[in-house]
Amino acid sequence: MIRKLVFKRQILVAWITLVAISVMPLSVLAQTQIKYHSNKYSVQDDVQLGREAARQAESQFPLLRDSQVQGYVEDVGRRLVAAIPSEFQHSEFQYSFKVVNARDINAFALPGGPMYVNRGMIEQARTEGEMAGVMAHEISHVALRHGTAQATKGQKYGLLAGIAGIAGTIFGGPAAGQLAQAPFAVYLLKFSREYETEADVLGSQIMARAGYDPRELANMFRTLEQQGGGGGGFLSDHPSPSDRYARINREAQMLRVNAGMRDSRDFARIQQKLRGYGTAPTMAEIQRSGQRYPVGENTGSGNYPNNPPSGRVQYPSSRFQTVSIFNGGAQVSVPSNWRELNEGNAVWFVPEGAYGQVNGQAVFTHGASFGVYQSNNRNLQRATEELINNFAQGSNNNMRVSGGQQRTTMSGRTALFTTLSNVNEATGRPENVRLITTQLQNGQVFYMIAVAPQNERNFESAFDTIMRSVRIND
Ligand SMILES: [Zn+2]
Repeated sequence: MIRKLVFKRQILVAWITLVAISVMPLSVLAQTQIKYHSNKYSVQDDVQLGREAARQAESQFPLLRDSQVQGYVEDVGRRLVAAIPSEFQHSEFQYSFKVVNARDINAFALPGGPMYVNRGMIEQARTEGEMAGVMAHEISHVALRHGTAQATKGQKYGLLAGIAGIAGTIFGGPAAGQLAQAPFAVYLLKFSREYETEADVLGSQIMARAGYDPRELANMFRTLEQQGGGGGGFLSDHPSPSDRYARINREAQMLRVNAGMRDSRDFARIQQKLRGYGTAPTMAEIQRSGQRYPVGENTGSGNYPNNPPSGRVQYPSSRFQTVSIFNGGAQVSVPSNWRELNEGNAVWFVPEGAYGQVNGQAVFTHGASFGVYQSNNRNLQRATEELINNFAQGSNNNMRVSGGQQRTTMSGRTALFTTLSNVNEATGRPENVRLITTQLQNGQVFYMIAVAPQNERNFESAFDTIMRSVRIND
């Protein structure tokens, strides 16, 4: 196998020398060229968003506290980061690597560099190279700034979940007493097929430069398939594992693996140490035990159908049920024929037919959503404007404030009521978006959004009832 690869490489070298008479290194000439996508956010925005998200993440994840394991994973991570091609290095980024004590095979990275590797992933990988492959893939999403690039393309509610969600801290902090953190979807945005392929290709290139055979990344997909697949996260449902396997192997043929492959006895020792800890809980178990847990790169519960919502829905039931949201941070009554979905940091209550995906991101046609937005602005009106700007940026420029702003109350406190108009991304129909904002004691903005097509007035009274039912417990 190795001899064959060397042979091919020699042919390639000869061919390139003949044709191009170039002095550039082989790897530069032969490998797939990757470019940044357009991105309206600054590199500093990536750092800021990632830092905020990491803070939230770590308040919810059971991290594995083992300095030996931690040191080992950091070591591998640092080698990979040092191998990022210079055009994708950002001096502002601070890559960090932490191990989460969860059994699921998963890993994720946040904008600007914080990465979390599940213990299950390290235990299930067959070699250090397979583990490094997953890390190289995640590092590539960060280096290519995929999170903010995808937000730039802007799907309104995907972005709402993304930027508003990630920028907003949720209830919590020492002052909030019994309030736990709200659900936290690290992955904000589910990456497109194109981005996944790019992360595989750049990940392969990083591996080769770091001294790992990129085919190990491909092999990880085989390993994962044998384990029955992952629940989202690294093993995204697109492209298919076999496509990714083939694509990475193709790239590997064009890459020269730098010398210096590490002896993987370290890896075996670390695996043994981890197994000594007994069985880690799964994410589902962590969630049941009261901690909400992100599921990796995919959004929320993974219950979103892949197709766009039809927008054909039943009338809201006249029966309402009271639901606790944000782990008891608030209560709200919603029609009993609506279901609850998590989208980023926001929670949605929607009828069947009102939710789905467009371009891999969640879109809603009818329903109500709640979230918390962190603004540096202590003035409710100005903080609300900031929030609206965030929404509008993600709405393909279709969202407009359509009515005046009115003062109202929500949960006994002063609130602002803003009406916006928009064009639904799935149906193309004009829709009304009502936004009600109020402040928590810590100054953060608690908001409710209600959305329905402009000509479906029968939702208005349901929205009124929902708004009046909100009880905030801060
Ligand atoms: Zn990915």
